[in-house]
Amino acid sequence: MSGFDFIKWSFQYSDGARTALVDVDRSLNWNELEERVQIMAEQLRGLGLPRGLPVVVRGVKGIDMVVAMLACATMELPYVPVDKSLPLLRLNAIRKILGTDVLIGELSDDFSICIHAGKVVRQRAPAFRSVEVLRDPIVYVVFTSGSTGEPKGVQVTRGNIADYVRWLSGSPFAFSRDDVFVNPSAFTFDLSVFDFLMSLHVGGTLLLFPADEFKSAEFLRQRLAPLRPSVWTSTPSTLALLAMNRDFNSAEFSHLNDFYLCGETLYPTLVKRVQERFPHGRIRNTYGPTEATVFTTHVVITEQILEKYSSLPVGVVKPGTTIHIDEAGELLIEGPNVAAGYFARPELTAEKFRNGVYRTGDHGWFEDGMLFFTGRTDRQIKLHGFRIELDEIDAKIMEHKLVEQSVTLALKRDGEVKKIVSFIKLGSVCEDALAQIQRYLVEALPAFMIPGIFRLVESLPYNSSGKVDHKQLLNQL
Ligand code: AMP
Repeated sequence: MSGFDFIKWSFQYSDGARTALVDVDRSLNWNELEERVQIMAEQLRGLGLPRGLPVVVRGVKGIDMVVAMLACATMELPYVPVDKSLPLLRLNAIRKILGTDVLIGELSDDFSICIHAGKVVRQRAPAFRSVEVLRDPIVYVVFTSGSTGEPKGVQVTRGNIADYVRWLSGSPFAFSRDDVFVNPSAFTFDLSVFDFLMSLHVGGTLLLFPADEFKSAEFLRQRLAPLRPSVWTSTPSTLALLAMNRDFNSAEFSHLNDFYLCGETLYPTLVKRVQERFPHGRIRNTYGPTEATVFTTHVVITEQILEKYSSLPVGVVKPGTTIHIDEAGELLIEGPNVAAGYFARPELTAEKFRNGVYRTGDHGWFEDGMLFFTGRTDRQIKLHGFRIELDEIDAKIMEHKLVEQSVTLALKRDGEVKKIVSFIKLGSVCEDALAQIQRYLVEALPAFMIPGIFRLVESLPYNSSGKVDHKQLLNQL
């Protein structure tokens, strides 16, 4: 292995002239990457930030974000990736939860210190909340949807990462420095952590293109294919979109042999479609919540598996970790990959993480040594691979002054979520109420959480046990 050592947190490459990163505008070799990380680490050192203080890293998927994340991590400042498209209200909510005032990325008035384009801008004296420094330092905090209306920040530590990288460095994986990794997920989702870590670890090449680029046939043919990607990582939804493009095949992408899928149910139809395009491709299903460091299980989907099971397994649990199933069928994860709880949320952490065991809210069972995922115990859904708490959408809609009640549901076809629908009962009548509510949501929530359908209702139907009748509501569509 050569590249970046995630035990010592330092560069360990042997050939500095090899390409480490490529993004839309440029590429960096290993020497250049190390130099840029050092410069930024020095800037951070110069700010005299207390160890453990989170730093928001805002931008689009690209070299600048990687440099910032590595500089923070080597300085023991947890980085918090935030996409540039995130509404400012939401960014501010995250800033408040973190109690930090430091941003790497384009200037934002709410932050006291911004580092952007190589310059440090101090707008005011920063206000830091005292930070608790854990024995195992936090490397990053990834925010996911929270059912109470506030996002929650999962804290992943050096120990979690060392354990994950150790697993991926052995069998049944065989990454090398010749590998070229590509993954359209933004750095705000933990699926992006897999190839970020592994390409750095083995000294391979990491391609950094925002998700939107992948929609263009020209980009695929003229930009991506010549870079010879060998390892693909995404949600099944994203791969399905890509597979609609005829140029996505083994003739154009002759080095692409490994497909890592995670985050939502993988259907046999997609596996077969990808196999037709890539007859030598290995399609791997993986499963795991952000709270257990990217993914915890793995399986290569073989012909035998496709023949034997109509619902595909999510795989074998990684060594050193155990997945327990409680009496209610809920999956509990225990092991060195379980994160250090949620940032500044002691009650929620105590509820979900008990004695190093994470309560996933997922249902499943084991067969032939492999885990099968069957669904959720709560109202968390996946839409196009995005993790969303329907209760968070309701909480936000009900913050609007015109709304009395909101019931947000997932519209499914063949078990798969197709759309989010919000049924809204107004408290006060107003002609353009819906437009006002929609405008408010666009400012308060990330785009992927905005419902696709809104329905104003005069009253909500109730079932015999006095609960809102979700079935009846969906039947109204
Ligand atoms: P995230 O934290 O965004 O990675 O989302 C984690 C959740 O996604 C899990 O708790 C599951 O509900 C779901 N999930 C992850 N991987 C899979 C998979 N391979 N198949 C089905 N659902 C999955």
